[in-house]
Amino acid sequence: MSALGKLGAVRVGQGWDIHRLVSGRPLRLGGIEVPNERGLLGHSDGDVVLHAVTDALLGAMADGDIGQHFPDSDERYRDIDSGELLSEARGRAARRGYRIGNVDVTILAERPKLAPHLPTMQRRVAELLGVAPAQVGIKAKTAEGIGAIGGGDAIAALAVIALTARARPTAVRTRRRQRPRARVRRA
Ligand SMILES: [Zn+2]
Repeated sequence: MSALGKLGAVRVGQGWDIHRLVSGRPLRLGGIEVPNERGLLGHSDGDVVLHAVTDALLGAMADGDIGQHFPDSDERYRDIDSGELLSEARGRAARRGYRIGNVDVTILAERPKLAPHLPTMQRRVAELLGVAPAQVGIKAKTAEGIGAIGGGDAIAALAVIALTARARPTAVRTRRRQRPRARVRRA
């Protein structure tokens, strides 16, 4: 079997999120607190980076989305650390036999300047996903003053993730193939 065959199929997921910036809330991004006079409004801590990564992870498994698994009508998730949501999604992936290949995130924010905080975010996201920091890319861009993001009223994040499916044991495949045709019922 080739090395690629042993790794199993690669699955890709994408996620994106946007939250409004308001006064009186801490700014949580990428699992850390970034000093800023305003923070992201949300039922949870409003961490757009972790929400985008969680949605990408769920999407790669074709397992719904963050709103479906963690509804904002549920009081359990009020002001919750979004790291807990990502950890839950990571657990779902692990139970299904998926391994995380890499994650790539782009944050869209006019301010504050995020560059000094990106290495800390990278380490935190890697820790939450149980992977090495080298498997997590985090970039920040401004919106060139355009629209709500450019005006500093919101921050958005985009994420892409690649998962590898654990190859099924050969014995299982063989047994399936040898199942008598008569037992296969078609709907
Ligand atoms: Zn969100």
